[in-house]
Amino acid sequence: MSVTIQEAIDAIVARIPGAPRADSVDTVKVGNPALPLTGIATAFTVTFDVMEKAKESGANLIVTHEPTFYDHYDRMEDWGGDPVREAKLRRLEELGLTVWRFHDYWHAHRPDGIRTGVARKLGWESYLDPSREGMAVVPPTTLRSLAQELKSKLSLPYVRIAGNPDMTCREVAMLLGAPGGERQVQALRRDDVDVVVCGETAEWQTCEYARDASAAGRPRGLVVLGHFASEDDGMRYLVEWLQPLLPGVRIVHLASGDPLSLVL
Ligand SMILES: [Zn+2]
Repeated sequence: MSVTIQEAIDAIVARIPGAPRADSVDTVKVGNPALPLTGIATAFTVTFDVMEKAKESGANLIVTHEPTFYDHYDRMEDWGGDPVREAKLRRLEELGLTVWRFHDYWHAHRPDGIRTGVARKLGWESYLDPSREGMAVVPPTTLRSLAQELKSKLSLPYVRIAGNPDMTCREVAMLLGAPGGERQVQALRRDDVDVVVCGETAEWQTCEYARDASAAGRPRGLVVLGHFASEDDGMRYLVEWLQPLLPGVRIVHLASGDPLSLVL
């Protein structure tokens, strides 16, 4: 059975509570969704490397979690032929790729698709507390050990922490991605949160709150994984979730990798 790209997108959206929503960023960014679907590549974000590998895999649809053009809404106005954006757009067109964003809806899936994929990777599914959205209750450990566990299970070259490395952690708020410093601090203020695990942080805000909390005798910790590292397994899990919806369609995950690298 052959389907168009749009039919595949519609099949996904039909599984999401409250979708479609007019205010969502989950729209087609580039391409022609009326074309027959040849295959799907899921990715955290669309890099030049992801584009080439998607094409090689036979896909003509990239399902991306993050924006393609450096703006939350992928707005095209006011870019005045920016050479980086133009080169990316041109290459997507040359490769015949359609890009659809699956961000709001994947998070709106119950349970949150990103968090589910990451929890599965960590072996934390049984730690998730269904009565408290985004909370995991882990066996008591130190902030240092928790960070080491995350680093090892997610195969990361490094993670960063704020707060006392020896503090005890049990109640973990999984604020994956980049929810903003405000939400991270609000989570750390709670009595039922020991540590926030995030992708990106606001150093002046969340990190300083964690530092002061330790000094003030109310220990709170922060583990910063990096945005890609904190969400990529959610887009990898999407392959497994999608396959039964689109039987016979080749679906692959492409790891876009962290844009930042460490210089020691
Ligand atoms: Zn996300």
